[in-house]
Amino acid sequence: MQKYNVIFKHDEKSKALAKHLIERIGKENQDIDDPKTVFVIGGDGTFLIAVHHYMHMIDKINFVAIHTGTLGFFTDYQAEEIDQCIDDYLTVVPSVAQMPLLKIKIDKQVFYAVNEMRIENVYKTQLIDVFIDNQLFETFRGTGLCVSTQLGSTAYNRSLGGAIITDGLSLLQLTEITGIHHKQYRSLNSSLILPKDTKICLTSVDFDKAVMCFDHKTIELASKVNIECRLSTKKIRFAKYRNIPYLKRLKNLF
Ligand code: NAP
Ligand code: MN
Repeated sequence: MQKYNVIFKHDEKSKALAKHLIERIGKENQDIDDPKTVFVIGGDGTFLIAVHHYMHMIDKINFVAIHTGTLGFFTDYQAEEIDQCIDDYLTVVPSVAQMPLLKIKIDKQVFYAVNEMRIENVYKTQLIDVFIDNQLFETFRGTGLCVSTQLGSTAYNRSLGGAIITDGLSLLQLTEITGIHHKQYRSLNSSLILPKDTKICLTSVDFDKAVMCFDHKTIELASKVNIECRLSTKKIRFAKYRNIPYLKRLKNLF
């Protein structure tokens, strides 16, 4: 049998479900370092942790997620459906849905994100020159900018007033984080949706005290760096045993 692992949130409910799953599929088939399937038990946040944990081998893994809250965006099963999930895993050949990650290059360092990357500065007004496909588009002034994937459109992007993008659309969305708009300074002040092969470059006279957040992770920026964002050829693979319509997931969010 193919090897699996399970990543779970550290609450009692998720822990108990993980224990049950391991009992049913077998401890001997569990392989923490080289699994083919990774079960994620928790919330969408737990899913992000699991993806980043296996980022070095992301192309080889199929994810199946079980939500211990309500139905999530990355999760196809609810807690009480755990046995249905295990039965499906043991008896059905799934289809695989692949979704591209966001690739962020900061000088020579590379980072990947499922949901989004953000540049944020809470200490001072951050100036950011935005280049879209090598053309200067605008100079932004404010707290920061967010570049979101389709998957991330319901996360931070949504809180910023960005559009929710249904599945099946591959694109990038650029959204402002509290931009300054008055007589002197002006930036788009609206979320911008761009084709999937767009390259967004962000530069600044000074990124001092700014951070780059990607999913649940954060790094501090050096004063002078070039930041490049585009969709990666690296993809997350979702093992699909059932087809849950996007709008059903969306309705669950409220
Ligand atoms: P977290 O508590 O794990 O996540 C914050 C909330 O975002 C949780 O309710 C989580 O759902 C939900 N979430 C994550 N990805 C989502 C998606 N693609 N669609 C819909 N909801 C989603 O916090 P964290 O670990 O610091 O951050 C991870 C992510 O949370 C970031 O990528 C960011 O998008 C999002 N976030 C949003 C805000 C905001 O909206 N103001 C602030 C911080 C972070 P579950 O409850 O199912 O885990
Ligand atoms: Mn969470």
